[in-house]
Amino acid sequence: MTTPGTEIIELETGVYARLHEGLTNAGIIVGDDSVLVIDSLRVPSFARDLIQDVKKITEKPIEFVIDTHSHWDHSWGNEEFPEATIIGHKNCYAEMIDIEWNEEWRKKVTSSNDPWSEEGHLVNITPPNMTFETSMQLYFGGRELDLKYFGRAHTSGDIYIHLPKEKIVFTGDVAQDGGVPYLGDCYPNDWPGTDNLLASLPIEQFMSGHGPIGDHDALVEAKDFIHALVDSTKNAIGDEQDSVQASKSVINELSPKYGEWRGFDRIGENLSSVYDKLKA
Ligand SMILES: [Zn+2]
Repeated sequence: MTTPGTEIIELETGVYARLHEGLTNAGIIVGDDSVLVIDSLRVPSFARDLIQDVKKITEKPIEFVIDTHSHWDHSWGNEEFPEATIIGHKNCYAEMIDIEWNEEWRKKVTSSNDPWSEEGHLVNITPPNMTFETSMQLYFGGRELDLKYFGRAHTSGDIYIHLPKEKIVFTGDVAQDGGVPYLGDCYPNDWPGTDNLLASLPIEQFMSGHGPIGDHDALVEAKDFIHALVDSTKNAIGDEQDSVQASKSVINELSPKYGEWRGFDRIGENLSSVYDKLKA
């Protein structure tokens, strides 16, 4: 049995998605002599659970960790992998060494009533120790892993792990199957263009940082959602609506198509920041 609430799905021989209901997913790729993990999860105890679950698949050591982006729920387990090479985008590194950015996040995490909030005080935020700018290839266990950066989107340093032969991509939080990503740190001027590049990858399956495994149609829908969100906000700005009015119009406009998506009910919390960034 894996950690309660988790489910491990083998997408392809040796390539696993560890889905965590309502929380953050991780990827696991088994190589010839070692293992690569995608995202180290929210706090050290979550990373330790992940390590235990990897041991149920293989005894091989974890040699690589890839941070899809800097957000705490994806990367604050990094310290539990002291022997591993931790790979991320150079902007992910910059965000993770940004003291103010991290203290803001630590405040949010520790002031919540979540079961992990106390542990948030103890996290030793550990940035990647290997970074890249546009792309990096890793040949691991006879597989090609294309690590790609397509521009700013959900954060300034979102990367994708693309397995071209297996037609799989790990998308972090840029795209979810039927879910609205967190918008509070996003770059709405860049995200639609970044999404166009992501959705053009010829894949059959994607694992998001949250939610279920999606197919290529779902990846295209996730892109269309961001386009709709940005277009609708821009239209409201064009109509000289203030931030509050704009939030209402955007929610009204998107509800018929996206109202049932996970997280849509909380979208109002961050629309004002999207508005401000698009107006600037
Ligand atoms: Zn995120």
